Amino acid sequence: MNPLLIDLRHFPAEGVHREGSLPSGFFALAAADPVRPQSPVAYSLDITRDDDEIIVEGEVSACFSLECGRCAGRFDYRLEMPDLLLEVPVENAQTIDLTEPLRADILLALPSYPRCEDGNITPRACPAEGRFQEATSDEPPPQDDNGVWDVLDQLKR
Ligand SMILES: [Zn+2]
Repeated sequence: MNPLLIDLRHFPAEGVHREGSLPSGFFALAAADPVRPQSPVAYSLDITRDDDEIIVEGEVSACFSLECGRCAGRFDYRLEMPDLLLEVPVENAQTIDLTEPLRADILLALPSYPRCEDGNITPRACPAEGRFQEATSDEPPPQDDNGVWDVLDQLKR
């Protein structure tokens, strides 16, 4: 049974509490996605109803492997959301599935432009750090020559 499926027909006035862990497949990310979940998602949520909205408050945490946008290396990142707050419109639904809003909220909380320095499990220096500065030094620009063909031309002469 989906623990994030809320039955509004029998929803208690005091709300409901849900906690546990969701398998990493919860994120339904493509195999080629640079974001790779590395752990189940631990969650503890208080769910209440406020007229036409479901209010979800609580905390979630999960570990991910992210790809550095600078060096393309992978690093581990632990995401902690201690003050998660979701407001989900109810409309005329009889049940409401919090899977999609929760998934979106967690993925949006990840760094938009991940860098090695964001790694908070095993600190790692980015090997590409500063490479752009070096590239603007006094090195001569790449020559527009034809390499081996120039050499062959000279041999023929
Ligand atoms: Zn990096």
